[in-house]
Amino acid sequence: MSLKVVKFGGSSLADANQFRKVADIIKSDDNRRFVVPSAPGKRFSDDIKITDMLYKCFDLACSNLDFDNEFETIKQRYNDIISDLGVEISLDSDFDSIKNELKSKPNRDFAASRGEFLNGKILAAYLGFKFIDAAEIITFNTNGMLLLDETVKKIRTKLEGISHAVIPGFYGSTTEGIVKTFSRGGSDVTGSILANAVKASIYENWTDVSGFLVTDPRIVDNPDVISVITYKELRELAYMGASVLHEDAIFPVRTAGIPINIKNTNRPQDAGTMIVSDDHEFDDESSAHTITGIAGRKGFSAINIEKAMMNSEMGFGMKVLKVLADNNVSFEHMPSGIDTMSILVDTASLTPVKDIVLAQLRKEVEPDHLEIEDGVALLAVVGRRMKNTRGTVARIFAAMAHARINVKMIDQGSSELNVIIGVSETDLNEAIRRIYDMFISSEKTE
Ligand code: ASP
Repeated sequence: MSLKVVKFGGSSLADANQFRKVADIIKSDDNRRFVVPSAPGKRFSDDIKITDMLYKCFDLACSNLDFDNEFETIKQRYNDIISDLGVEISLDSDFDSIKNELKSKPNRDFAASRGEFLNGKILAAYLGFKFIDAAEIITFNTNGMLLLDETVKKIRTKLEGISHAVIPGFYGSTTEGIVKTFSRGGSDVTGSILANAVKASIYENWTDVSGFLVTDPRIVDNPDVISVITYKELRELAYMGASVLHEDAIFPVRTAGIPINIKNTNRPQDAGTMIVSDDHEFDDESSAHTITGIAGRKGFSAINIEKAMMNSEMGFGMKVLKVLADNNVSFEHMPSGIDTMSILVDTASLTPVKDIVLAQLRKEVEPDHLEIEDGVALLAVVGRRMKNTRGTVARIFAAMAHARINVKMIDQGSSELNVIIGVSETDLNEAIRRIYDMFISSEKTE
């Protein structure tokens, strides 16, 4: 039997109208049995998320300032949803106790978690599902680390015999009973853990986009949606800055072999993006494109080192990397020639220690030439099909050459899942557009 865990993001539950859409989606499929809501998000672009308002109340409470107005606005938003839906529930006693708690012993995570807690209560009442407080099942140690095994056990015990339930996202509690949240966007993580614990056949993550886009829509107009992506590909793209899902939401479902379907609450008819295990057998090879996605990130520096006979000097690379490690600078890529080596690092972590790093490198490896080049962007072209397709790199270079974009470096991992190229930051957007045209637009017209 298929069992679905469904998580709805803040914009999917921002007002009563959105609640109705969510209820329609849930009621249209009886397998959608366990529901994880976020707190109400933005209704329009200048709106403020409930979570942010709660953080504000906490900050004011900590400074012993009055937060009545802010709290009233929060109450109003929930009460509007309740009255507009016509649901038989009053949160008045919850509002009172939350306010008192904030006044007497303000706790940041407790404050933030109430957004999901209250929203979960409304949604459960509206759907006629059981409400289960996440504090009773999602468990952290006293240092705030999630205790996955213990959590899974608690979920299984708690949900035994319960067919349909709403479990608020984003928070749980420590073994000492203190409310603790995940980092921002953490309701995704709750949904993923729950899917693992109940052995869901699928984890549906409902948001306000129809899935993962091939590339950034601020760079390419109306990019295609990725229909299927593997966990590995997703990680490559996420690392380069593409994001839809909380990073920690991957592990619990990935290890259990549960696919994630990113869906759009405002367009439930769209298939969305399916995130599948790395050994998934595809039957869509013929219709799909050679590449899955393109992502880029600015803010890198290249440390360029030149030294005659570098290649025969034992331990040269090790000495260079040790200088970086000693100064807490991690490296991203390290393309090298016979007598040259470039190390690509994050500019923000290099800048504060730049002079020390240069001095230490001079001392340790006595280079003939040493320079730091800022303003480098890295671009990742990711795709599981590249491995079995000839000429992908040639096409990337052809696209760059036609646009007269200088490629500073290239790196293809042995997994052949991605090609990373370094370009000047000023060329990044054009490079992405050209690669998109080469692989997506032109493959469609072929
Ligand atoms: N409400 C929380 C946030 O705004 C958690 C979530 O939406 O997933 O970050």
